[in-house]
Formats: sequence, C-alpha cells, structure tokens
Amino acid sequence: MNQPNAPAPTSDADYEQVVSTAAAAAAPVAAATPADRAGWLEAVAAALADAADELVEIAQDETRLPEPRLRGELVRTTFQLGLFADVLREGSYLGVRVDHADPEWGMGPRPDLRRMQRPLGPVAVWAASNFPFAFSVAGGDTASALAAGCPVVVKAHPGHLRLSQRTAQVVTNALHQAGAPDGTFALVVGTDNGRLLVTDPRIKAGAFTGSLAGGRALFDLAAARPEPIPFFGELGSVNPVFVTPGAAAERSQDVAEGFLGSVTLGVGQFCTKPGLVFVPSGSGLVDRLAEGAAGLPGAPMLNDRIREGFATAVGELAARPEVTVLAGSAEVAEEPSLALFTTTYDQHARAREQLEVECFGPAALIVYYDDPAQLLEAAAAIEGQLTATVQGTEAEAGVVGPLLDVLADRAGRVLWNGWPTGVSVTHAMEHGGPYPATTAASTTSVGTAAVERFLRPVSYQSVPDDLLPPPLQEANPWGVPRRVDGVLQIP
Ligand code: NAP
Repeated sequence: MNQPNAPAPTSDADYEQVVSTAAAAAAPVAAATPADRAGWLEAVAAALADAADELVEIAQDETRLPEPRLRGELVRTTFQLGLFADVLREGSYLGVRVDHADPEWGMGPRPDLRRMQRPLGPVAVWAASNFPFAFSVAGGDTASALAAGCPVVVKAHPGHLRLSQRTAQVVTNALHQAGAPDGTFALVVGTDNGRLLVTDPRIKAGAFTGSLAGGRALFDLAAARPEPIPFFGELGSVNPVFVTPGAAAERSQDVAEGFLGSVTLGVGQFCTKPGLVFVPSGSGLVDRLAEGAAGLPGAPMLNDRIREGFATAVGELAARPEVTVLAGSAEVAEEPSLALFTTTYDQHARAREQLEVECFGPAALIVYYDDPAQLLEAAAAIEGQLTATVQGTEAEAGVVGPLLDVLADRAGRVLWNGWPTGVSVTHAMEHGGPYPATTAASTTSVGTAAVERFLRPVSYQSVPDDLLPPPLQEANPWGVPRRVDGVLQIP
C-alpha cells in the first residue's frame, strides 16, 4: 500500500491541534439545532457530488475498483448524508419522553421528569478499506456521528490515503461554508495516531470497520482506558447460507446463479459475502456451482495487503484435512477468481472453529448435510454473524420456521431467498450482530438507527420550563415526536 504522493502520518503537533479543536467544537456542535446540522450534512453531500469526477478518478487509481462501482458508491454516500438530514428534521431520534408530575402515580407520587438523547462528544472513526466512499471519510460512521451532534476525527485507511485527504478537504470546506464550527471534522493519518485517538480522554466514542484482529485490539484499548468509551467495531463474518432440500430441488439453477453473483461481487471483498453454504448431499446444486464457477474471470483486489490476507486465509483453509477443492485453486492468483471448497457435515462439526473463518475475497466453503435437522444444529453452533440466509420453501415450515428463529439469535440480518451482499441504507436496516460480527450487538453501523450509537439519555427532574432544552419544553418549539405521560404524540 505504498502509494506515491500519499500523505505522511499526522505530526504530533498537528494531532494535538486536531483533537483539541474537536474537543472545543463539541459544545457548539451539540448546541446547533437539528435543522442546522441537517443543512451541514446536505452541504457535504452536495460538495461531494460536485467533486465526483475528481474523487472517483483518485479512488480508481488507489483501490483498483471499477468506475461504475465507485460512482454508485459515491451516490450511496451522498444519499446517506441526505437521509440523516431527514432524520434530524423529523426529530424522533431525540427519544423525547415527558412525564408530568403525578401525585397519584401508582408506586407513589412522581416528580416532573423529562428525558432526551444528547450527543456523546468527539467520535473517532476508523475508515474501511473496501468502501472508499460509503464506509470511509464521509461514510456512514461520520454521517451518523455528525447527525448525532458529535465532532468527528477520522483515522484514514492506508489503502486510499490521497482519496481520504482530498475527501476530507471537500468535507471540511463544505462544513465551514455551511456555518459549522471549526473542529467539527478532521482527518488524521497513521496507525499510531489511531491508537492515540482511542486512548485520548477527549475522544468519547469510536467507530470501526475492518478486521477482527484490528477491531478487537482497538476495542480492548477503549475498554482499558481509565474512562472506558463505547467502541462500535464492525468486524468479520462468514454469512452462512442454509439451502433446504426443497430449494435445492425446485430452484437449483436460481440458487447457484444467485450465490455465484453474491460471492464474487466486488471480488468477494464485502463483509456480507456469503462464505459458508450448507447444501443437501447429492443435490445437483453442487454441480451447477462447479460449472458456474469455472467460467468466472478473476479481478484485482483492493491492495496487496488484502490480497496477501486472502491468500493466507485460503491457503490455511485448503490445507485442512477436512477440505476438498471443488472449483478454482487454493493458490491465489494476482487477480483471483472464485475458489470453492467442500466438506461434510460431520467433518465440519468436528472442526467448526478452523473452518468457519472469514476469507476476505472470492471464496466459500460448501458443507454437505444429510438431514435437515443438521441445519438447525449448525445454525445453533455458529458464531455471531452480520447476516444469515435461508434458501428454502414455505412448504418446509417445520424446518425453516425453527431455523429462522435460531438464526435471529445468531445474526443481525436474516434473509429469506435473497443474498446478503447489498446493504440498503434505510430505516429498518440492521448491519450488526453478536460478537465477533461486531463489538456492540445492540446497534447498527448502517441505516438511520446508526445515529443512536453516539447519543446518551439524560433525564431532567423538576427543571423550570424555560431552563429546559427546547425539545423538552412544554410548548415543544421544535415540533418533535414525544411520548407524553406514556402516550406517543406526533405533531
Ligand atoms: P484492518 O487491518 O483491521 O485495518 C482497519 C483499520 O484499523 C486501519 O486503519 C488500521 O490502521 C487500523 N488498525 C488495525 N489494527 C490495528 C491495531 N492493532 N492498532 C491500531 N490500529 C489498527 O482492516 P483492513 O486493512 O481493511 O483489511 C484487512 C482485513 O479486514 C481484511 O482481510 C478483512 O478480513 C477485514 N475487513 C473487514 C471489513 C468489514 O467490512 N468488516 C472490511 C474490510 C476489511 P493501519 O492500517 O494504519 O495499521
């Protein structure tokens, strides 16, 4: 990832300037009205769209991703900023609850209590390598933290440093012109500066997308601080797919095509790539997968570090005595094409830990099972996942009903007859899951609920009306949805 003209690590003096300015901006950013912050986000979105040609050209040069993909990702990024602006104007993210004083309250008289969400303070964001726009400098973590009212310091990913720096300039200028305080947003470069950020007492939360090892190291640092902070790490996942006998019999061509498209999308470099597939023994589906895989071309990966990581993971998987090559090769080429491996249910059950490993690239392990009851056993034993998919038929309710139940316990998103790649940015999206899929199972890194990560609730007790924040005042001057004496009120 040594790139010509890439920016050097941020100096100690510049780091200090960035973080002290972010800390100073925390109060004014929190005090800005949601409508003001919505305007900031829309200004950033417009500036990124204006700079699209320049940004996409740099991104192509640094990430080897094709232009249409990058342009689509930039649209996703600007849409995401706009959607958080809508969230701010709607106001329910503030979670306002008003309980008037009640001398007759069932457990004894209650005082006047008013609760709302407030921003945590400066947030550090570790940009991802595989989405240079949508999960990077101006991506979902940044958008949701700014929406919450938190200044943001991004630690640039070394895979696209020039793009990170140029994007940061566009974002900073747009925020400045829209009236945001200095320090609302900044970028730092360098691994050590990332470690400084997560231990810096002025930083109040972290958000990360990347490897299990990297995320866990930073999570541990966040937890070991004298004042621990929340650290929202989105880590790895094998995204299991469970193909029932009915689906394999009735739709094997569709299932094969859908799977091959999903596992190779973006050269397999998606955290939602389906990397583990349970298929009934003896079904023709496996032949279709092998035939389909044979014709697929290779493509360059994001950078040498990712390709080397993929080659190591695939090499270790292929070397396991339980594993056989079905298609492609255990030797990862310069431009890898799809590699499919197989094993049996019993062998898989004996070595789950070694076989359920993420190979971040175009590869998957197919597990043959004999009895649909084994699908339930496998699902119950699986580690926390971002997604889990059932390819089934409604006629198999006795199998798929319990399977969906078990999977809802193991994964953040459960899919029926779909494919996990492609994560819509919308209100009902859950992109999270139990550890090790993430370090914080109770929230999401994609979708509008992501804003909740950077907020904490405060109750005001018996505070005079004109001293309360506007959303809690009796007249509700911002017109936000509120639960008043237990009843939801939508203006
Ligand atoms: P990574 O190695 O985890 O790096 C992500 C970020 O964390 C980088 O900014 C990196 O800084 C920093 N970091 C990592 N370990 C650190 C440590 N011990 N101390 C301080 N900072 C640390 O992830 P990556 O480079 O994107 O890709 C490597 C692997 O991550 C892939 O092969 C894949 O398995 C996984 N991945 C997952 C996702 C996902 O969506 N969940 C996305 C992309 C990649 P430096 O690079 O400056 O050291």
